[in-house]
Amino acid sequence: MYDRIYNFSAGPAVMPESVLEELRDEMLNYRGTGMSVMEMSHRSKAFQQIADEAEADLRTLMGIPENYKVLFIQGGATLQFAGIPMNLMKNGAADYIVTGAWSKKAFAEAKKYGDVQCVATSADRNFSYIPDCSDLPIRENADYVYICENETIHGTTFQQLPNTKGKILVADQSSMFLSKPCNVADYGLIYAGVQKNVGPAGMAIVIIREDLIRSDLDSHVPAYMRYDLQSDNGSMYNTPNCWDIYVCGKVFKLLLKNGGLEAMAQKNQEKAAILYDFLDSSKLFSGTVEKPYRSLMNVTFVSPSKEMDAEAVAYTKAAGLDNLKGHRSVGGLRASIYNAMPKAGVEALVDCLRKFEAEHA
Ligand SMILES: *Cc1c(COP(=O)(O)O)cnc(C)c1O
Repeated sequence: MYDRIYNFSAGPAVMPESVLEELRDEMLNYRGTGMSVMEMSHRSKAFQQIADEAEADLRTLMGIPENYKVLFIQGGATLQFAGIPMNLMKNGAADYIVTGAWSKKAFAEAKKYGDVQCVATSADRNFSYIPDCSDLPIRENADYVYICENETIHGTTFQQLPNTKGKILVADQSSMFLSKPCNVADYGLIYAGVQKNVGPAGMAIVIIREDLIRSDLDSHVPAYMRYDLQSDNGSMYNTPNCWDIYVCGKVFKLLLKNGGLEAMAQKNQEKAAILYDFLDSSKLFSGTVEKPYRSLMNVTFVSPSKEMDAEAVAYTKAAGLDNLKGHRSVGGLRASIYNAMPKAGVEALVDCLRKFEAEHA
């Protein structure tokens, strides 16, 4: 009835239809309040309940230990590229693993705040793999080790977390957040911009071990950026992104109802296998990432030429499969198949690419 298509965008990205329908139904009058959540005071009882439930449901979903705080912070993942060094650098040093466009950006930003070193990178082969991180030259004084666990643009993912030699691990999980079970205790800090796998753009979720939250920060750190202020004020030091918290909360409830992260992981593996199996058997298309490091969320692939890539993008779009153009820095095609992409969407994509291949044999 709404003529929706299959949207393979890397972000903002597809959302569960049932959540969109609930939002529609509650738009003009949220549960008898006579107003929409957009119009509601963040200090109201109704909104406080929305925020409390969102946090509680996320804690259940991920099994977040009690000694971790959950923060909802505006500014997306990018603001945290600065927020992390501002808050976590005690010795003024951090070691970064650079595996693609997003960790590269985070690395460049962190350099503004201290002595930052790249301890491993896959730049030599255009970020098409994850380097061996079992024995890296982590410095004694490093305040943390940083990774982007799933590189959205290059389509790689860590199968195994790095050996941080006792230092805390900080992970950007933006494009894989809630796509599979996660042992939060392995990390000092996990963060994710929510517009990839959860909700609308404009907010990051930060999950941080309590003892890493400091109140003795440099006085130049903006109040908004301070994890201690955000935490002490329940992510409402100022007006939060109420709408985003509300929508994310609905997605958390849906994931819980659908069997949690184990069930998501199984579904995501099945979906990715359909696409990768096709790519591995295709005579026209091929994946750009070395097999062991392939992302289950962002599938990057190419045809024999740039011209044919563009043709394939136009062909899929005409078939109701949109946003398959690869990122401008990589080229080719990219299918982002987040939690909310149904299996039928991936099957439709493979059918379409197969047809394209037959016509171009
Ligand atoms: C999209 C993305 C970002 C940036 O998110 P913004 O909310 O636009 O700041 C950072 N890291 C990863 C891995 C991403 O996919």
